Amino acid sequence: MNSSKQVPVVKNSRSPRQRRAFEASANVAAEKQGLVHADTAVNGRQVEPKSRRGGFWGALLGGGIGLVILMFLVIREMDRGPDVSSPALGAIPAEYKSDRAFGYLKALCDLGPRPSGSAQMERQQQLLKKFFESQGAAVKMQSFEIRHPETGVPVGLSNLIASWHPNRPKRFLFCAHYDTRPFPDRDSVNPRGVFVGANDGASGVAALMELAHQLSVLPADVGVDIVLFDGEEFVFEQGRDDYFLGSTFFAEKYKTQPPAVPYQAGVLLDMVGDRELKIYYELNSLKYARSVARGIWDTAKDLGVSAFVPRSRHNIDDDHIPLNKIARIPTVDLIDFDYPRPGFGAPKYWHTEQDIPANCSGDSLAAVVWVVHQWLQRQ
Ligand SMILES: [Zn+2]
Repeated sequence: MNSSKQVPVVKNSRSPRQRRAFEASANVAAEKQGLVHADTAVNGRQVEPKSRRGGFWGALLGGGIGLVILMFLVIREMDRGPDVSSPALGAIPAEYKSDRAFGYLKALCDLGPRPSGSAQMERQQQLLKKFFESQGAAVKMQSFEIRHPETGVPVGLSNLIASWHPNRPKRFLFCAHYDTRPFPDRDSVNPRGVFVGANDGASGVAALMELAHQLSVLPADVGVDIVLFDGEEFVFEQGRDDYFLGSTFFAEKYKTQPPAVPYQAGVLLDMVGDRELKIYYELNSLKYARSVARGIWDTAKDLGVSAFVPRSRHNIDDDHIPLNKIARIPTVDLIDFDYPRPGFGAPKYWHTEQDIPANCSGDSLAAVVWVVHQWLQRQ
């Protein structure tokens, strides 16, 4: 299903495996309601009742199909290469400092969980406003109010907009979300536990902080905005609560009150801190901003940053959807959705208590910053 359209599920768009798991659970629910029989629906596919399967030829055929599937899976696993690999084939130049970038990620996580409207989010906003101003940006808070999805009380949200040379003719948008999900609801042990969002929340922000160090010197005709979105996942109940509150607000404003100089392109960074970084083309990015995506992956190839894999993998709803669809800013999502890695039996850190700095790496952040900065230099 293109989950994205019917239910605003994010990063939500599930991988085929996740989708199968989801469909399987949907079938369990349907079975409880007497809608399907367990024997006839496995992983969303119709399965012939056992009594009608038959004999020697059936077994032979079944075995053959099984063998082909097994070979396919083995080849696919081999294709993935080693679990841990350097994000770049060559050395990352010294001006992209992986220790400094990782220090930012840790400092954000040290604030604790940073959901929209929380005291920690406010502290984060103060810290980041000061930081981006120290890097020469003019910083504005774009504030708005929503209703808390559980209690209905008003909650103040703010996007942070840091601008360098907004009136230059070629303007680019770099963005990330800076709120963290209220709970690690995919954690099998503690779904109401502590979620610090090292990768899903802090990594994009830390990368953009590292990028900011490069923005004092830009091509003479280039201006840059770094925008941090609030309310990407102020979600307490999946399927009920809306995602992308900040980016949607930003996109609506951009549409109704267009700036003097429009953005030429946008780059969204999300989950870019994984120690085992592999960033594939994301399908919505190819759909809405193919040339931007191509430019970034081509840059990575030229630099020898092997963490950018020039193949498509996931179809993901993220903050780039409102930017593309409402604001019409061609925006790509750089996201490594297999955290830490794809494959059978691999652990799953996404939306769990394991999304912590120890599962992230400064090298991954620095490699991404290197690529997007060099891509910007080429514009
Ligand atoms: Zn998330």
